[in-house]
Amino acid sequence: MKLSQRISAVPPSATIAITMRAKELQNSGVDVVSFGAGEPDFDTPQFIKDAAAEALQTGDTKYGPKSAAALKEAIAAKLQRENNLPCQANQVVVTVGAKHAIELLCQVLLNPGDKVLVPSPYWVSYPEMIKLACGETVVLPAGRDNGFKITPDQIRDNAAGAKAIILNSPSNPTGVTYTPEELSEIARAVLETDLIVISDEIYEKLIYGDAKFVSFASLDPKLPERTITVNGLSKSFAMTGWRLGWLAGPAEVVDGVRRLMSHQTTNPVSFAQAGALAAYTDPQSDGVVEQMRQEFEKRGIHIAQRLNAIDGVECIEPTGAFYVFPDVSAHYGRTLSGVEITGSMDLAKAALESSNVAVVPGAPFGEDNCVRLSFATSMEQIDKGIDRLAELLA
Ligand code: PMP
Ligand code: GLU
Repeated sequence: MKLSQRISAVPPSATIAITMRAKELQNSGVDVVSFGAGEPDFDTPQFIKDAAAEALQTGDTKYGPKSAAALKEAIAAKLQRENNLPCQANQVVVTVGAKHAIELLCQVLLNPGDKVLVPSPYWVSYPEMIKLACGETVVLPAGRDNGFKITPDQIRDNAAGAKAIILNSPSNPTGVTYTPEELSEIARAVLETDLIVISDEIYEKLIYGDAKFVSFASLDPKLPERTITVNGLSKSFAMTGWRLGWLAGPAEVVDGVRRLMSHQTTNPVSFAQAGALAAYTDPQSDGVVEQMRQEFEKRGIHIAQRLNAIDGVECIEPTGAFYVFPDVSAHYGRTLSGVEITGSMDLAKAALESSNVAVVPGAPFGEDNCVRLSFATSMEQIDKGIDRLAELLA
């Protein structure tokens, strides 16, 4: 059967593909160490599960979840309290994950041929979502020599004729966080243009060392009218399987997103929203999130140290999210375990097939010199996996 041109041009998500392959191998008894999954290894906190279970048991099982209005209020209150953003509940849409929020925004904002600036390395799904909305990605390269960060001048130089920019700090895949000063400079450049900003703040709570998180739209009073903030529960609250995210922004965008969703997913799962409400309102939240953050911080320092100790591997210590993105290109041109290594795809293949270590190739993130490792796994698994990689690359 002939599929649409749109979907024919879209490859599967590399992050999802590697994660699923690693899980498949594990389920069939292979001892795979997975650095693939961008998902916390912790379980969802009990009080969040309890709230959802109670909603399920008490009949919150219809269209129009009982907690929908309170959840939007709670998200608006969170944005005011924690992010210094002037936001009302009617500016919030709860979506089926942050991925869905960004996809909706691409559909609602882009006309065919509209250009979107995307700093590279980027999260795999941004260019594909832009393509599915018939838009065009304009890559702003941010190399390792610049700490994987773009400069404000790159925005100034590329904004003519572009409609929007997607920002993501802390970043997937690099684990890099812009400082508030750097983001302010970027904000200044954005305000010299007509760009709409999609600020993907999904890793907001996972910040390490001296790094500080700041919501992009809070950096200037003129930014909220052109910025849509995207966030969700997957990473902060270990709720990847719940599929809950949200966006907050100008009323006309929110109205467009609601109309699209009304023909598409209607609303996210009713009783799951009761769990999300608990996550944003229960006093236990700060403590459990902080506990997970501290654990990720230790792992991030450790995995970067261990990677840097391998010859031909250079890794920036992460300041956010739960990824490291080491440059492994010194090994390109070698033959490892019978595989000729010409780039990140080959290296990831050799690591999985011959060393039972799942890493995600850098190519689908726009940087073939690197591979991505998620450290959302235990210290024991990290050591075991890095031992295997060190042996492969020796
Ligand atoms: N943005 C980034 C940068 C991500 O890494 C992810 C990971 N899944 C998402 C958005 C989407 O998350 P979710 O759909 O699980 O909320
Ligand atoms: N965002 C995570 C990752 O990059 C989860 C997988 C996905 O949604 O792409 O691994």
